[in-house]
Amino acid sequence: TEETLVLVKPDGVARGLTGAILARIEAKGYALVDIRLVEPDRETLERHYAEHEGKPFYEPLVEFMMSGPSVAIRLAGNRVIEGFRSLAGTTDPTTAAPGTIRGDFGRDWGLKVQQNLVHGSDSTESAARELEIWFG
Ligand code: ATP
Repeated sequence: TEETLVLVKPDGVARGLTGAILARIEAKGYALVDIRLVEPDRETLERHYAEHEGKPFYEPLVEFMMSGPSVAIRLAGNRVIEGFRSLAGTTDPTTAAPGTIRGDFGRDWGLKVQQNLVHGSDSTESAARELEIWFG
């Protein structure tokens, strides 16, 4: 078994989609090891998104992530890192496949790519690093 960090981002929480997203995660059979509502400060987000520092979308992304609460989830399961990213769909909700969280719930109007509902760690190294940041 394996663990990953999932975030329901501020757009997902604000739109009342936390339950719908959790339902898909639970239906897949993944285990909720820990879950909490978080309001991250800039320092936490700068650590989390360190690899994107300097990119044009970095500052808007950090601001967006401070715009409201997120739900942080420590999620466990067989190959859950790859599996959750497959449930989430591709980064841009406009073109994410139907059947995925981003494809089904992502809005394609007034869209900013950072408003893509969820985050999931992309490797075992990222998962360990990110779980330490969000859950200590
Ligand atoms: P995540 O890591 O959040 O699951 P991802 O791996 O699909 O998403 P990354 O390339 O790691 O995407 O980018 C991290 C986040 O930065 C994305 O989820 C999105 O919110 C934002 N982002 C990425 N590319 C862009 C872009 N071109 N414009 C605006 N925001 C972007």
